[in-house]
Amino acid sequence: MSTPTAGFWYESGSFVLPADTTSGFAGPLKDEEMESIRQLSRTEIERAFSGLRITVTTNQNAFWRVEVLRSLPVREHQPLPHAGESLALGFLGGTGAVGFDIVALKAIQYAPTGASRQRMVEGIGRGIGRVAVHEFIHQILGVAAAHNDTDENSYEYGSPDRSSQYYGELHWTTARPLLHRKFGK
Ligand SMILES: [Zn+2]
Repeated sequence: MSTPTAGFWYESGSFVLPADTTSGFAGPLKDEEMESIRQLSRTEIERAFSGLRITVTTNQNAFWRVEVLRSLPVREHQPLPHAGESLALGFLGGTGAVGFDIVALKAIQYAPTGASRQRMVEGIGRGIGRVAVHEFIHQILGVAAAHNDTDENSYEYGSPDRSSQYYGELHWTTARPLLHRKFGK
């Protein structure tokens, strides 16, 4: 069996900060900041899936796919836009997205007092990678993927409202044994 692939990429034009963050963050993102966000987010995903037979790629035809969009569409019966969303397609893989604007907004809101612009840019990059990891869990495990809302430092936590997602260390809890059973090396 060939190694399953997790595709992760940015839609062009996705690196746009929402207007209400500009008080904490002067001016639009520079090219090198976008590049740093791209790299950090990718590193987060590779780190989370290291030790598993899952290849992280930029291929948009990968088995599981997460695309970073400028924002996610607001869905019915949902008061606020989410940071990420996914559709698990079973043996057909899965597809999902991360909303750049929400993650950037939260990363700037949760920045420690006096944090430099660079530190916030790093928070955005980590945050996007970690929301993507969470979305891949929903796609990979399907209905077996459960949120762990008791551990704020876990990938399985179901909300972007926490500082650890941007500035702390995250670890696996409930999903790891399931991933290991299916994709352990
Ligand atoms: Zn979730």
